[in-house]
Amino acid sequence: MGRYTGPKCRKCRRFAMKLYLKGDRCYSEKCPLGEEYIKPPGEPSKRWRSRESSYGLQLREKQRVKCIYDLRERQFKNLFNKATKIKGVTGEELLKLLEKRLDNVVYRLGFAMSRRQARQVVRHNYIKVNGEKVDIPSYQVSVGDVISISEKGKGVPIFVEALAHEIEAKEWLSVNRKKMEGKVLADPGRADVEYPIKENLIVELYSK
Ligand code: SF4
Repeated sequence: MGRYTGPKCRKCRRFAMKLYLKGDRCYSEKCPLGEEYIKPPGEPSKRWRSRESSYGLQLREKQRVKCIYDLRERQFKNLFNKATKIKGVTGEELLKLLEKRLDNVVYRLGFAMSRRQARQVVRHNYIKVNGEKVDIPSYQVSVGDVISISEKGKGVPIFVEALAHEIEAKEWLSVNRKKMEGKVLADPGRADVEYPIKENLIVELYSK
């Protein structure tokens, strides 16, 4: 059977790198892009490098991160503004805020196979935080929060299929697949964001 190359994979081709938009598939042999598409942070492909201005590179980096986390400009800019108000390195704080979005955490816990799917299940009221239903994908989790799947959601195929893949949760999270719940153990660090992102380019872009 041929490899799937739907619209999401086309985005990866457009940015000439793996953007990890389809969860587990992106880490498997089913991904149509090979090792050569895993670039070091901020390094564009030869095609881009030869003709892109610094503004172009900054813009493309922002678009790439927006694509990874599947956010619109307004949502992304709001998070950036929030990051500027936090004591620390703005680019890193931005990535932490992106990681701590509830939809991202649902994805990182392996309850969904992509962030888009995770957002869908949050919106459909299948996710609880500390026992209370939360249907806001942008909700920021805190250390100690327990994220669980509601009783109604436990038989929903998205969860059953995603959990069957046993995607390893990030170190700042713990997951109990049997109970269908996870916990935020710590704030995510820069090293927990495995994507080749050069976040300083985004800071430069918004600082103009
Ligand atoms: Fe498709 Fe994921 Fe591979 Fe991108 S990384 S091409 S979305 S499978």
